[in-house]
Amino acid sequence: MSDNKSIHDFDFSLICEYFAGVERQGPGSPEVTVKALSFIDNLTNDAKIADIGCGTGGQTLVLANNAPGHITGIDLFADFINIFNANCCKLNLQKRVKGVVGSMDNLPFQDEELDLIWSEGAIYNIGFERGLNEWRRFIKKGGCIAVSEASWFTEKRPAEINDYWNDAYPQIDTIANKVAQMQKAGYVPTATFILPETCWTDHFYLPQVAAQEKFLKKYAGNKSAEGLISEQRREARLYAQYKEFYGYVFYIGRKI
Ligand code: SAH
Repeated sequence: MSDNKSIHDFDFSLICEYFAGVERQGPGSPEVTVKALSFIDNLTNDAKIADIGCGTGGQTLVLANNAPGHITGIDLFADFINIFNANCCKLNLQKRVKGVVGSMDNLPFQDEELDLIWSEGAIYNIGFERGLNEWRRFIKKGGCIAVSEASWFTEKRPAEINDYWNDAYPQIDTIANKVAQMQKAGYVPTATFILPETCWTDHFYLPQVAAQEKFLKKYAGNKSAEGLISEQRREARLYAQYKEFYGYVFYIGRKI
């Protein structure tokens, strides 16, 4: 680590290293990606698709295998994009699928260029409403958007989980309110569904168990690394305890 790097930078690179070691960086599954895709009917071989906050590309490869057209994956973190592009080459998808480093608040697209914007577990980085509003101009009229987002299932929930999320992501809201935000942003909300629990357990938290052991061994005595892992473990514990009150929801809309 160079001297001028701040603690924050080091923390960030630790977080990225940790998540680069697991298949997915957020809750989801191949089945859920395919299900969300089943509500999209405007794609042809010429379609242009963007997968925003693609991470190492777990869901992008599923998209590529189940949808026609060309996909650009965008992520802020270069190491994720390197893994993404290496996987595309391995699977011989590099002609149709490409990862680029970029930020979701400054997307490298023309107005009305895209047939579909996809984003799993990532729009929270810019905020659900802001993302829907700002990304809309890149989508063709009649084109679609499909994003997954943490959402409340109930009007009221226990204080512990309410406080946790209001601290982590104050824009978490009920499904009804999120759908209204989508409509207000200029989309017809065409489908909404809750991701099954296995998207959190089998596909997200379970693969982290082994990754955590390995990470703690590598960074034994490193307070930042230990803090990161205990935070991840706390998140998984809270999910097990309070999963009836919140989860991930896919929101699919058509631009009007
Ligand atoms: N879609 C993947 C990753 C979700 S995690 C999956 O479901 O597995 C959220 C991703 O958003 C991370 O890969 C993170 O690096 C990326 N990210 C965070 N801020 C970003 C920004 N401003 N622009 C683009 N990507 C960003």
